[in-house]
Amino acid sequence: MKTYYRIRITRSFKSIFIFLACAFGLNSNAQQSHLDTLISVKKLVYIEGIIPASATHGYESKAILWQSAIADAKHYYEAKYSNIDVKAKLAVIDSAKWTFDVPYGYTFANEGWIVLPADVDFNAFVRIYGASAFKDELLSEAKTKGIKPDEILESFFAFVCVHELGHLIIAQMMKDGFSDILFNELAANVVAYEYFKNNKPDLLRGYNLFYNAVINNYNPHFKTLNELYENYGKMSVANYVWYHSNLMKLVEEIYNYKEVDFLTCLKKVSMESKDKNLKIRDVAVLLDNDYKGLITTWLSKNNW
Ligand SMILES: [Zn+2]
Repeated sequence: MKTYYRIRITRSFKSIFIFLACAFGLNSNAQQSHLDTLISVKKLVYIEGIIPASATHGYESKAILWQSAIADAKHYYEAKYSNIDVKAKLAVIDSAKWTFDVPYGYTFANEGWIVLPADVDFNAFVRIYGASAFKDELLSEAKTKGIKPDEILESFFAFVCVHELGHLIIAQMMKDGFSDILFNELAANVVAYEYFKNNKPDLLRGYNLFYNAVINNYNPHFKTLNELYENYGKMSVANYVWYHSNLMKLVEEIYNYKEVDFLTCLKKVSMESKDKNLKIRDVAVLLDNDYKGLITTWLSKNNW
């Protein structure tokens, strides 16, 4: 592990959260040009495709794998809904000379770019996402299920690729959608989950194991939705990952409720609602006309 890498990871938790908070709608031109500069300075290898990719030399195979996951999911959603034509580009960047204003290891969608880290091995993965304290439990659970450690992060990043594409799809479909950060994280997760369940369910195994391990083993300092909003940018990364992992249980329920198509329902309520600044609970109330109380019940059951 490069020293520089470690410095960047511990540098500023605040910027992590601000970034995560903005991941859905980062529009700053300064950040965009910074990303373009970083990509050109690093002399990445260009890989053609439906999703053009730029990758650090040595990580082309990862880029090709993620490229095809994104292209496949794009194809699935373009076939499912009319008027979707998401233009996405993938950047798979190593940690050396990382100058973008977010610690290395975080993934994001920004102005059509989906940015993923190149050199994250299993140990770095566990450290970045706060699973160090229960690494042994994670590994023993993986062994029980016949899942190799590398499959956990491969599955995680495959999910994350499509999650980031999900943000771009939602932004295109909803044009004037809800701004709430947590709601958008939920929605992007639903998009990714549906794609994998319907097309490549085996690829979900590792991520499923990971988020259940987080739920079962991580002891969160902050637990409620109000605490999340109040402490955004202040709580630990691990605590944030715990919120995201719990959200996955709601994602499973939404997916399993087959009477409603999530994005169609979301589009309908977002067109009907004048207030685009509604928080997740209020959006849930609107969705629940069709979901028959499923989402609001889940949120209150979890004190969210
Ligand atoms: Zn996201």
